[in-house]
Amino acid sequence: MRPIQMVDTKTQYLHIKDEVDAGIQAVLDSAAYINGKAVHDFANNLSSYLGVKHTITCANGTDALQIALMALGLQPGDEVITPSFTYIATTEVVALLRLTPVFVEVDKQSFCIDPAAIEKAITPKTKAIVPVHLYGQAANMEEIMAIAEKHGLPVIEDNAQAIGCDYTFSDGTVKKTGTIGTIGCTSFYPSKNLGAYGDGGAMFTNDDALAEKLRMIANHGQKVRYYHEMVGCNSRLDSIQAAILDVKLKRLDQYSAARQKVADYYNNAFAEVKEITTPYVAPYTDHVYHQYTMLVEGIDRDALHTYLGEHKIPSMIYYPVPAHRQKMFDAFGSANTEMPITDWLTDRVLSLPVHTELDEAQLEHIVQHVVNFIKA
Ligand SMILES: *Cc1c(COP(=O)(O)O)cnc(C)c1O
Repeated sequence: MRPIQMVDTKTQYLHIKDEVDAGIQAVLDSAAYINGKAVHDFANNLSSYLGVKHTITCANGTDALQIALMALGLQPGDEVITPSFTYIATTEVVALLRLTPVFVEVDKQSFCIDPAAIEKAITPKTKAIVPVHLYGQAANMEEIMAIAEKHGLPVIEDNAQAIGCDYTFSDGTVKKTGTIGTIGCTSFYPSKNLGAYGDGGAMFTNDDALAEKLRMIANHGQKVRYYHEMVGCNSRLDSIQAAILDVKLKRLDQYSAARQKVADYYNNAFAEVKEITTPYVAPYTDHVYHQYTMLVEGIDRDALHTYLGEHKIPSMIYYPVPAHRQKMFDAFGSANTEMPITDWLTDRVLSLPVHTELDEAQLEHIVQHVVNFIKA
């Protein structure tokens, strides 16, 4: 049996090696390392895939979130509502921009931000909502957009974990996550569902003026070279990464299907195991399983994690410390809120390996060890 990894980008690469190598070689031949044709081609192809008007590429997913917030023209002290139960980047950029993060609870089943909690947290200072499509399924965007519209608030979707996921509205309309809010953000970090072989990120919007502003902010606030209209930053996707991503974009749906197959395997295997709650998928979304995150109850979650590690089976706790308990936010009074659901989940989540290259023997091995530990 091949060694089990949390993510296996190497094996995935070997399947597409010829195409990826040719793409990299074409960039080397063109010498257009920055902002070359590969970047424009990829951005256009990604816009078509997602059904969105504008894709603005940048250096990483954290920058995408930062630039999106910068484009909203907020003032220090303005409040931004986000979940606490997320990767640190979502909340960190809020604080970096001297905005005030306001953490709200997630839904206990879907792990995504709870629309009712958003509504309760809105004050006259609230200036934006940042939902996260955690682990690969969409937050309840229909309700979130309704709340946002009612209060005149922009929505920035953190789509770093859910690229390719479909959201279905109650009238039957289907949209890709990242194209529903005012701006969508994603990451091309290697382990993400659409991962580069280095860093990368992108923003999505259907708003022409906003697209231009995002593009300018990512490029030192300039539209015309050396004429800087606003304070921006320097955040670029390089051509080699774009060439690699273009090869992988063509296979994104196939990759999502492979992840879903892994999830189905685990779901079936654990269906009768009462200590494990397999991932719930809300009716309005599909799930592209950036993570396969289950809830472990009635047994020692950390001991299971250690036991798997001892048997060379990686598993992860995403995330061991929620944002409202991070020292980083000590200075923000808003962070010191009670979040019983987030704390409850933090103590019980465990993510098993999920990627496009897991085979049946590996899955059987993982399941067997999880079950062995529970039965012991
Ligand atoms: C990965 C990730 C990011 C940040 O992306 P980077 O490319 O690592 O900067 C932001 N939000 C979430 C939810 C993520 O998973």
